[in-house]
Amino acid sequence: MIEDKNPARTPIENLGEFGLIDFITKNFDISHDSTIKGIGDDAAVLKHDQFTVVTTDMLVEGVHFDLSYVPLKHLGYKSVMVNLSDVYAMNARATQVTVSIAISNRFPVEAVEELYDGIRLACKTYGVDLIGGDTTASRSGLIISVTAIGEQNEEKIVYRKGAGDGDLLVVSGDIGAAYMGLQILEREKAVFKANPQNQPDIETYSYLLERQLKPEARKDIVKLLEDLEVQPTSMIDLSDGLSSEIVHLCKHSEVGMTIYEDKIPLDPTVITACEEFNLDSTTIALSGGEDYELLFTVKQEDFPKIKANPSLSVIGHVVDASYGMNLVTRGGEQIPIKAMGWNSLKED
Ligand code: ADP
Ligand code: MG
Repeated sequence: MIEDKNPARTPIENLGEFGLIDFITKNFDISHDSTIKGIGDDAAVLKHDQFTVVTTDMLVEGVHFDLSYVPLKHLGYKSVMVNLSDVYAMNARATQVTVSIAISNRFPVEAVEELYDGIRLACKTYGVDLIGGDTTASRSGLIISVTAIGEQNEEKIVYRKGAGDGDLLVVSGDIGAAYMGLQILEREKAVFKANPQNQPDIETYSYLLERQLKPEARKDIVKLLEDLEVQPTSMIDLSDGLSSEIVHLCKHSEVGMTIYEDKIPLDPTVITACEEFNLDSTTIALSGGEDYELLFTVKQEDFPKIKANPSLSVIGHVVDASYGMNLVTRGGEQIPIKAMGWNSLKED
């Protein structure tokens, strides 16, 4: 398990609410012209030239994360990533975030500092300003709520609605790795509980663990599509798993989709881990969540612009709604796709 590397334990009471807010927000810089006023007044003030997009996601201890194997710095980083991913899924640029935390007094100031180290790293790396939030006490566990704000020209914003018959379905990066990372972490936790002397076997699966603990939102894909002059017709980010995101795109766009098993991009370590855990890698790709890749449709005429790109895989195409949503297996068999998020996978 990950040890607490910071032995100092200063009770939060020593700082008080305002002291704590000052302490956690002091090292954040403002970099966007659109941030007129950040932290420090009753409200932040923004001035966007373009349309504004706003999204919020909440992470709850025991539901979305387990602090016995998630380092607080990673948690801070990830809580910003899951929100930026939603901004990028609108084909927008992320510009600001607010971060609200409910924290119990079992956490020392040093723990809050670690959490905010991760938040600061995320803000710096992705070029977003922390412009506010709220800090409150919690009686049961840690809760983090992040709101991300972004901007984009009206005509460039991409919705879930908009996929048309014949469009190609494209996914960025590779999928299934975050879910397998979670499997490794849960196995190591069980092994550690049984025998605390056991050293975790995490070297082999560092890619999977990184995908679970420190995901990266695909800001680069929004930029890439702009550079390639490709305007997606519909888009969503992969938080719950490929199958449920396909269902969302189809429902909003009123279309069907056919995808091909052999086109689904899998990292070799996902395949190895699936063999070890006796899991079917296609099921994991369809149902495992938290990859934070982008899933989008493009017009067929854009195919030459994207086909050679190593970050993009065409996995299927849009069909009439009457055909429904189907997966064509390696054996040529056609099976219906159901919305099976990682939650349903977890209950098995
Ligand atoms: P108010 O009482 O008006 O809500 P607060 O004392 O809660 O003000 O917050 C003071 C300032 O600090 C505000 O700008 C607020 O947005 C910011 N802030 C409070 N908590 C956080 C936090 N956890 N992260 C970032 N900014 C915060
Ligand atoms: Mg407040």
